[in-house]
Amino acid sequence: MSLPTTITEDLLDRITSRVASTGGATWKLTEVYSGEVITALPQSSPADIERAFAKAREAQKVWAQWPLKKRMKVFKKFHSLLLENNETVVDLIQAESGKARRMAFEETCDVPMAVSHYLKRAPKLLGDVKRAGPVPMITSSTEIRQPKGVIGIIAPWNFPFATGLSDAVPALLAGNAVVVKPDNKTALSPLFGVDLLYQAGLPEGLFQVVCGEGPDIGPTLIDNANYVMFTGSTATGRVIGQRAGQNLIGVCLELGGKNPMIVLPDANIDETVTAALFGAFGNTGQICMHIERMYIHDSIYDDFKTRFVKAASELSIGAAYNFEPELGSLISVDHKDRVASHVADAVEKGATVLTGGRERPDIGPAFFEPTILEGVTKDMLAGSAETFGPVVGLYPYTTVDEAVALANDTDYGLNASVWGGDLKNAIAVARRIESGNVNVNDILATAYASKGTPSGGVKQSGVGARHGDQGMLKYTDAQNLAVLKKQVMGGPQGKQTYEGYRKQTLTSLKVMRKTRLR
Ligand code: NAD
Repeated sequence: MSLPTTITEDLLDRITSRVASTGGATWKLTEVYSGEVITALPQSSPADIERAFAKAREAQKVWAQWPLKKRMKVFKKFHSLLLENNETVVDLIQAESGKARRMAFEETCDVPMAVSHYLKRAPKLLGDVKRAGPVPMITSSTEIRQPKGVIGIIAPWNFPFATGLSDAVPALLAGNAVVVKPDNKTALSPLFGVDLLYQAGLPEGLFQVVCGEGPDIGPTLIDNANYVMFTGSTATGRVIGQRAGQNLIGVCLELGGKNPMIVLPDANIDETVTAALFGAFGNTGQICMHIERMYIHDSIYDDFKTRFVKAASELSIGAAYNFEPELGSLISVDHKDRVASHVADAVEKGATVLTGGRERPDIGPAFFEPTILEGVTKDMLAGSAETFGPVVGLYPYTTVDEAVALANDTDYGLNASVWGGDLKNAIAVARRIESGNVNVNDILATAYASKGTPSGGVKQSGVGARHGDQGMLKYTDAQNLAVLKKQVMGGPQGKQTYEGYRKQTLTSLKVMRKTRLR
């Protein structure tokens, strides 16, 4: 299969030369649709990673001194370049991940959205905040936001461009440097994004890229970073969190999910079925916030099931660099085998395949059909573990309490979706779900695209959040700069006795409470 014409040898040479690598080791990065090698991706040794951090640290010292307005100018230009180069980004994402073009395009929108949001919020969030000191007039305290230094970002393959770059935007704007480790399979689109940032005027050295297998790169990256932003599986998140804890550095962990959807009896079935197709099969089921469990009220279960199964069986699957196919490939043959094993395990233990359930080697090496299961139980892999593929289980329920209990019966808590005609009622149900994100009458986009609100997982789905004010503030340390203008804080003054001082202080505390001055 031939690659899109935007992916030229020159482009590949330019962007892969940005990987911090000296030893000559490479990794074969392939086009998912065909399995053919696109390029030999340079790999970083521990010494390369150390050097990358040293360069980033040097550049950061200068960058942090730039006035915020000057830093923002780079990101305004970056925003324009992202839109101008959209086609190349879409092509790269598709080639390296095998996803449908529709999803590749959606993914490209995330980075300019993050840029726009943090360009608006940065002056407010990074500006000094004057606070009252303990003694009026004589004392003051100022909250100052200092960049942490060099931020390590580890990104997964499912949204390589978005997770490789969007989290870097607030980090850089706040005055930090970044060292990013994309997944080997999907390093090209983030590398291209980094290249665009340099074209936009980012000082050389500030944004480093290191490549390699996670366990080889992770320890050196974490040991050199001042903060780690990780997106990936819960299992890996635990390893990253442990090491960050040992080093006493902050970490944000955005992890896996087993996300439920609840369809209430008064939901609009047409809209719900359309949304369920995206929820279960969008990005071929490889969205961390996608739906793997659907709880449908028993009064509408049969109707929903019939329509959903028909619509899923009619989805078009294909390997094409155009907007025709609704579904693309899975990321790799290994991952396809994992997804197939979840379906096989469910069938062996008594579940029924309502549609799909088959690999599609006739289309490409890692294609798998959209699959709907019924009769899934918690002892099945598909009932409790994250499948991360186009596989969803349907479950009828009778009472709302039952639906809420079933939705919450998981170690995960990343995303949930509640559908109902009576919004007030649906919102009340949504508030009962143990999940960092809950969408009412949507699957995930409304929550994820609301960049002003923190978005993260609870339970085993994560620690911390991206987006919102904390999505930028987490990359800073609050410095408390306190000033005492007259020496009144040192206990009894002049001839005052300690007892007199005690009484005066207690009176002051009473006044403070009453006047709410402090
Ligand atoms: P993964 O944990 O295997 O890998 C993620 C990244 O971590 C990759 O770059 C990988 O090379 C690296 N890595 C692996 N082991 C490492 C180690 N020991 N030290 C340092 N880095 C290491 O996850 P994946 O399979 O690539 O991605 C899919 C998972 O990511 C799913 O569980 C999905 O739900 C989750 N995810 C979560 C979010 C979110 O926002 N919560 C977003 C996207 C994906």
